[in-house]
Formats: sequence, C-alpha cells, structure tokens
Amino acid sequence: MYLKTVQLRSFRNYREQRVNFDSQKTIIVGNNAQGKSNLLEAVELLATLKSHRVSRDRDLVLEGAASGQILAALERAYGQAELALILRISGRRTVILNQEPLRRQMDFLGVLNAVQFSSLDLDLVRGAPDARRSWIDTLLIQLEPIYAHILSQYYQVLKQRNALLKKFRQREEDNLNPEIIVEQLPSDISQLKLWDVQLAEAGSRVTRRRARVLERLTPLAQQWHSNISGKTEVLEIKYIPNVSWTEDDPLEVKQAFLEKIEKRRMAEQQLGTTVVGPHRDDIEFIINHTPAKYYGSQGQQRTLVLALKLAELQLIEEVVGEPPLLLLDDVLAELDPNRQNQLLEAIQDRFQTLITTTHLHSFDSGWLKSSQILSVEAGE
Ligand code: ATP
Ligand code: MG
Repeated sequence: MYLKTVQLRSFRNYREQRVNFDSQKTIIVGNNAQGKSNLLEAVELLATLKSHRVSRDRDLVLEGAASGQILAALERAYGQAELALILRISGRRTVILNQEPLRRQMDFLGVLNAVQFSSLDLDLVRGAPDARRSWIDTLLIQLEPIYAHILSQYYQVLKQRNALLKKFRQREEDNLNPEIIVEQLPSDISQLKLWDVQLAEAGSRVTRRRARVLERLTPLAQQWHSNISGKTEVLEIKYIPNVSWTEDDPLEVKQAFLEKIEKRRMAEQQLGTTVVGPHRDDIEFIINHTPAKYYGSQGQQRTLVLALKLAELQLIEEVVGEPPLLLLDDVLAELDPNRQNQLLEAIQDRFQTLITTTHLHSFDSGWLKSSQILSVEAGE
C-alpha cells in the first residue's frame, strides 16, 4: 500500500498542512518539539484509531480548537482509498471512508496498515504487562479488524461485572454496620452468574486470538532476532494467559474460565473486582533462557524490539497481502551501525517508510539520495 497524501487540520500543533509523499522513503527532519512525531502519530491514528502517546482526544486537537481532522489518500492493490478521521475535544469521533461516514469504527480499521517503532517501544520489554497487552491487541486489530469489536465487548462485560462486584462488597461492608439493615438478594448471585458466562465467552475469544497471533509471530521474530544478534542468541516468546488452557476450542477455553472464576469467587468478592480474565494476561520474552525484562542489556532489549517490529511488518504483509507502512520515530539514531544496517536492509524498497530525525548525518548518502526529505518547523 502507498500513502500519497496526508492533510492535517487543527491536529496537535498543525493548523492546516498538506503533505505529499512522493518517495517510498521520507525523512522528516527538524528540531525538537516542531511536529515530527505528531505527523507520524496522525498516520498511526488512521491505522489503529489509537495513539500510543495519549488516550484523550482533547490532547490531539490543536489547542483552542474544538475539533481536528486527519485526511489521507491511500493507494491499495484493490484501488484508491480516502480516509478521514474527525476528532473532537468532547471525545466524539467520526470516521469517514471514501466520503462515506461509517457507523462502525471496525470498518475503518484495516484500510491503512502501519507498524510504529519509537523509543517508547522499549516499554514492551521493560514496562508493565499492559504495554505488552496493548502491543499485541494493536497488532491483532490490524490483522483482523473484528478484534476491535471483540476486545471492546470484553471490556464492557468486565466493566459491568466489576460494578456488580463492587456493589456486593459495599453491601458486605454495610452488613457489618449494625446501623444499616441490608437484605441479601439472591437475585444478585444469579445476576453475577450471568456475568460469569459473559466474561468466559468474551474472554475466551480474546485469549484464543492472542495465543494464535503470538504463535504466528514467534518464528518470524526468532528469525530476525537470530540474524540481528549474529546467531548468538536464542529468543523465546511465551504467552502467559491469566486463564490457562491447552486446546484451542471455544468450549474448552470457556470451561477453563468458568472453573477459574469459581476458584477465585471469594477473592473477587472480597476485592470487589474481577481478577480472572485476559485483562491480566502477560507475554514473556526470553533470551538464552533468561527473561529479557530483568537480565537483558539495553542493546539486547533494543535488538529484541527491533526483531519484534520487523516480524510485525512481515506478518501484516503475509496476512493482508500488501506491505504495511513503517513509522520510525527517532529510533535510527539509537541503534548501532550494525542494527541500523539490518533495519535498512530489511526495509529496502519493500515498505513505505516515514522516518523522523533531528539531523540528517545518521543517514548514509544512498539513503539521502533515494529519500524525500521534509523539514518541519513549528507545525509547518
Ligand atoms: P522531538 O524531536 O522532541 O521528538 P517532535 O518534532 O517530534 O520533537 P512533536 O512531538 O511532534 O515534536 O510535537 C511537539 C509539539 O507539539 C510541542 O511543541 C507541543 O507543545 C505541541 N503540541 C502537542 N499537542 C498539541 C496541541 N494539542 N495543540 C497545540 N500544540 C500541541
Ligand atoms: Mg518526536
């Protein structure tokens, strides 16, 4: 796929700016705080409807404006696509594909595919489990957009179930208070059981997909990792689901959920929150039999993240049938010459690539000659 233009209106520090991409590689150069990452973030939003930097739309809209827009023209093997995303400080969004406003965000996902690689991605290895869950979920959303729906369903069930558990705990506390007389309602218990089933169903859809995508990604990541590390290191990727199961069968997995929920019933009621389910999953990266999180050097952790990103690119290309875009935010300067070369060789002209940098001297002359260079200053 090829991104031809992006137009930003009241997005971050851009008032009104159109950018034409006329090369497979674009280097976006500028001083700090000029809008380089903001431009990449706009493309990321079109691909995933998420920004890895913020969660509130009001931060994405130009200060002082009520709404902002990101528009793009994309060439895909099956034809042209025009994408538009309207962001409002109220949080309400509109997604438009080929001039048609869409009712479901899901139908917007999967039109533009992109893999983002920034220094924040080291959190994948070093950070808390939510960074890894969000990484695998973002990848899944691009591979099968229906996953966005599956995931949001799960979180809705979780929210409702948590509200009920919280109410139970409150009632327990009130029960201990002789001033307040509270009746125990048997209907509450049957209501909770209904939510147990919903949680098991929605949760098993999430965990099975996460397991499947990791299974496909792992050999690709291992291959890249072995290449980059000069075949000296062995990488393993281990999915650690909160609810473990062995056979990828909807009924079996659901049963595993229900059994664990039963086991943790007391704990959940005491804590007043759901402790069983994929919102507590994790992924472990193991290099030469030791967890990379605690034992990996900075360089080993970078190599790992680079291998994961290259594997993501390859997997999206395999599944979608077209190479996704690669968004490199400030990472080239952080890689040593060997890893830089590995990355540049892997990209070649295969993936349209947008690269931000504060100076051009980290690029060799071949790259500079074959790239479009855009310079950014104060949102222009
Ligand atoms: P660096 O080299 O430091 O990474 P950058 O060029 O990537 O810099 P960006 O993150 O793209 O910088 O842009 C940051 C600039 O955008 C900052 O000056 C910030 O104040 C401004 N900015 C961010 N959000 C908004 C907003 N909603 N409205 C106006 N300006 C904003
Ligand atoms: Mg930046």
